Amino acid sequence: MEPLTEKEIRAGFANCSKGEASRIKLPDLAAVPWPDLDFLGWTDPGAPQRALLVVSAEVGIVLRRPEARRSTAMRSSMCRICYTGHTADGVTLFVAPLAGAAGRNGNTVGEYICSDLACSLYLRGKRQPRGRLVRQEESLSLEERVDRALTNLNGFVKRVTSGQLSSGRLSSR
Ligand SMILES: [Zn+2]
Repeated sequence: MEPLTEKEIRAGFANCSKGEASRIKLPDLAAVPWPDLDFLGWTDPGAPQRALLVVSAEVGIVLRRPEARRSTAMRSSMCRICYTGHTADGVTLFVAPLAGAAGRNGNTVGEYICSDLACSLYLRGKRQPRGRLVRQEESLSLEERVDRALTNLNGFVKRVTSGQLSSGRLSSR
């Protein structure tokens, strides 16, 4: 992706107040490996329950991590964005408040995503899932897998930014 500025990133958050956007701590933008990224994702170093996902100069979303690590039999071990398989804590069910009034009323959508939000690096083989025993072979090229990840990501982001209550995927606090 093209490098983004702090101003662009802060202005793009679609599902939080301007006040919250101004308090988010950004990563060191000079150290971000932009050419290897399809989107920028990080955990706020000042608020570890808060994770951020920025897809372009125009659009970013705020995510929340679950408070406590709970292990359940239903837990997914595959990222639904990049389809990387992980051991249990390598994938987190992130929850995003919907944009606008629906989000202020406590409505959220969730998705299972790589806990470190480094889907782009896993796709390129620049980071390896911990403890993975079986490598899943895929016939798709890198470009095709990136396209698929972006399609998944954009679908999720669109559900958040539309602020529309839709059936099925919705949960309420
Ligand atoms: Zn992923």
